[in-house]
Amino acid sequence: MKLLLFILAVYVGYRILRSWLDPSSPRKTRYSGSDHRQIDDVMVKDPVCEVYFPKKEGLRVRVDGEEHYFCSTACRDKFLENRKDS
Ligand SMILES: [Zn+2]
Repeated sequence: MKLLLFILAVYVGYRILRSWLDPSSPRKTRYSGSDHRQIDDVMVKDPVCEVYFPKKEGLRVRVDGEEHYFCSTACRDKFLENRKDS
């Protein structure tokens, strides 16, 4: 139930953000931040809680040269914990 609310909140926030950024003109990414140029509105899945969210809003963690995206620090921590155990 909590997950559903989270998805809904992300979705609504995302829609609002989109309509703010540009209601009419073709979309342009205007990030000047270094890593964020290529990160647009691709959806990625959190490997821990299996929620989909926009990549740019995720928490990016590089583990063994592989990039993982998490919806929250809690999920990231859980993922790293599980890795340690196995
Ligand atoms: Zn998560």
